[in-house]
Amino acid sequence: MILFLGVAASIWMGMSGEPYSAALTTFGAFLHWLLFRSLAEIIRLLKRNGGFDYEGRVSGSSFDHILSCSHCGAALQSDASCDRCGARIVKPEADNQTEDDG
Ligand SMILES: [Zn+2]
Repeated sequence: MILFLGVAASIWMGMSGEPYSAALTTFGAFLHWLLFRSLAEIIRLLKRNGGFDYEGRVSGSSFDHILSCSHCGAALQSDASCDRCGARIVKPEADNQTEDDG
């Protein structure tokens, strides 16, 4: 919204024959947008740390898991076997089924 207002003001200045002021206003609008975005991010981080509900999304907070070989510790690329040591990969579901059967 602030960026939109700044751009609208700069367009109005540009049309009224002040291109330098228009460029400065656009840059100022961008700086304000950046400042308020960073403040919102800090507020979201504080709310998340405090366990409160927050709207929006904390940037860089996506989680991903990488499977590693329990024999040598290398990151696994395939589902069948380890690329480094060649150990065969056994799925945990298969272990549970054999325990239930026996
Ligand atoms: Zn391995």
